[in-house]
Amino acid sequence: MTEAQQEQQLARNESAFRKVNEGIDAGRGLTGADQVLSFVCECGRLGCSEMVSLSVGAYQAVRSSGRQFIVRPAHVSLEAEVVVEEHEGYVVTEKTGVAGEIAEELDPRD
Ligand SMILES: [Zn+2]
Repeated sequence: MTEAQQEQQLARNESAFRKVNEGIDAGRGLTGADQVLSFVCECGRLGCSEMVSLSVGAYQAVRSSGRQFIVRPAHVSLEAEVVVEEHEGYVVTEKTGVAGEIAEELDPRD
């Protein structure tokens, strides 16, 4: 994959992820907490387009913390985060140190 293709891939991932978030917010009341949706892996790796499946309720719980992210188990960056929950097909990570501060600063729900 060329560099330009990787950049496009990342842009697509980001757009897809934002759309999922917007869909959840817009669909509140229409979407039950038990409904399982596909979310984009939040590891931030260039070119990562893997999906994770979890319920709306579980996703909202993760989003309630500005430092927590959902990623594929193989995509955890141990130098910047710790695993706080393990689930089938995905883990919940919490950013530590400077990465945690940045994550909290950029929290869209702040
Ligand atoms: Zn990933």
